[in-house]
Amino acid sequence: MTRIFVAGFQHETNTFAPSKADWSAFEAATGFAAYARGDAMLEQLGTGDLPIGGFVREAGRRGWQLLPSLWAGATPSAQVTQAAFERIRRELIEDLQAAVRMGPVDAVYLDLHGAAVAEHVDDCEGELLAEVRQRVGATCPIVASLDLHANVSHRMLGQANALVAYRTYPHIDTAGTGERAARWLARLLGGERWHSAMQRLPFLLPLNAQCTFAEPAAGLYRLLSDLEAQHGVHLSFCMGFPASDISDCAASVTGHGADAETVQIAVRALADAATQQRSAWRLDLMPPALAVEQAAVAIGAGASPVVIADTQDNPGAGGDSNTTGMLHALLAAGAGQRWPGGVALALLWDPVAARQAHDLGVGAEAAFSLGRPVVCFDGRLSDAAWQGQARVVALHDGRVQLDGPMRGSGHTQLGPCARLDVQGVQVLVSSLKCQVLDLALLQFLGIEPGEMALIVVKSSVHFRAAFLPVAKTVLVAQAHGPMAANPADLPWTRLPEQRARTP
Ligand SMILES: [Zn+2]
Repeated sequence: MTRIFVAGFQHETNTFAPSKADWSAFEAATGFAAYARGDAMLEQLGTGDLPIGGFVREAGRRGWQLLPSLWAGATPSAQVTQAAFERIRRELIEDLQAAVRMGPVDAVYLDLHGAAVAEHVDDCEGELLAEVRQRVGATCPIVASLDLHANVSHRMLGQANALVAYRTYPHIDTAGTGERAARWLARLLGGERWHSAMQRLPFLLPLNAQCTFAEPAAGLYRLLSDLEAQHGVHLSFCMGFPASDISDCAASVTGHGADAETVQIAVRALADAATQQRSAWRLDLMPPALAVEQAAVAIGAGASPVVIADTQDNPGAGGDSNTTGMLHALLAAGAGQRWPGGVALALLWDPVAARQAHDLGVGAEAAFSLGRPVVCFDGRLSDAAWQGQARVVALHDGRVQLDGPMRGSGHTQLGPCARLDVQGVQVLVSSLKCQVLDLALLQFLGIEPGEMALIVVKSSVHFRAAFLPVAKTVLVAQAHGPMAANPADLPWTRLPEQRARTP
C-alpha cells in the first residue's frame, strides 16, 4: 500500500503588522481550524474545504494510506514566534521520523501557505521542505500546495518536486487545489520526473488588484490553463503577499514538467504577460469620507447594497480589525440617520466592548469606547477610539456556522459578540478576529446583507465571493490602518532594489 506522509502549516505573515502569532494563535479556531495532530488531524480537516481536505478525499479514492502528522494554521499577523515555529517544526519532524521507522514513506504532501515568516526564519516553508527532504531522501516525491499569496523562494522550489497553488482570489478552489496536488503526486508515484522553473515579476502586486473575478488576473489564469494544455506542464501563478519585508517577497510564476526547456517557455510566457500589463495592476483607492460620499451617490441611484472594503484593517492580511476610520466617517456623514436601520460595520475586534455588552444585556444603553488606535506601517497611530452612547441590540456566543463559497462547511468561534446601535449605525463587535468572508458573519447578529443600504467590511478581497451576489456596488476605502493597500507606502528595508514596490 502506498504510504503518504501528510502535514499542514499555514500562516500569512505581514512583517509590518502589529501582533505576532504565538502558540495560542494556532490553537484558536478563528480563520483556520484549530491545531490538530495525528488521527485527530485527519478527522478535523479531512472533510473540510482546505487543501488537505481535498487531498485526503482524492487519496481515499486512490487507496493511499495516509500517515498524518499535524496541521497548524493561524490567522495572518506579524511573524510567527520562534517558540511556535520551533514547536511545529519539531513535532512534524518527530512524526516523520516515527513514520520512517514504521516502514517506507513513499511520498510527502504538505499543505502550506508559502508566505510564513518566523521571528528567526525568513522562509519557513523552504526550511520545512528542506528538513523533510533531508529525512526522506532525494528520490521520494514531495508535493506542496500553496496559497495564491505565497512568496515562493528558490529553496522551496528546489526542495519540492511540485508546488501547486490556488488559482482564485477570493480562494474558492482550496479543496480543489489539494485534489490537484494529489493527482500530480500520483504521476510522480508513477515514475515521472520533472524539471522546475520560476520567474518573478519585477514589481509587487497590491492585494486589491489581485482579485481573480476581474482583469488583469482573470485573463492571466485563463492564459495559465491554455499554456498548461499547450505544453503539457503544470503552472502556478502566485501573486504574492506584498507586505513581507524579506528578499523573497514577490509575485512569481512557477512550473513543472518533463522537459526543462518547455517548462521554461511556459513559465516565461505567463510571467511576461503579467509583467506587460503593468498599468492594469494599479489601484483606485478612496479616503473614507469620499467612499461614504460615493456610497451615497450609488444608494441614491438605486445601486445598493453598497459594500465598502476597509482594506487596510483586513484581519486576513495582518490587521487587527479594530481601527475606527470608517466608523468615524460613517458617523460624520450621518449615515445612521440617512439610511435608518440600513448601515452596518463588521467585524470590529473589541473584546472589552463585547464583554461590556454581554454584562449590560439587550436593550441597555451605556457609554462605550469602540476600537483603538494602532501603530500603522507609517509609524503613526490610526484614528482614535470612538466614544459615546450606544445601545445593545443583540448578543451572541460567537459560534457561527459558515455557509458561503469560501468556507462552506466550516464554523468559527468568535467568543462573545454583540450588535451595538451607534447613532443608527449597526456595529458588530467580536472577541476574536475574523475576516468578513461569509454572509453568516452578519446574519448571526440579525443583519440581513441584502436588505442593507451600506455595509462596511474589514476585508480586502475575500468578502467578494459571498457579497458580490448581494452587493450592487463595491468600493475600496483607504482608512488609516496597519495593512498598506499600496505596497509603495511600506517602509521596506530588505526588498531587492530591482523589484519595484508598486506596478
Ligand atoms: Zn491567500
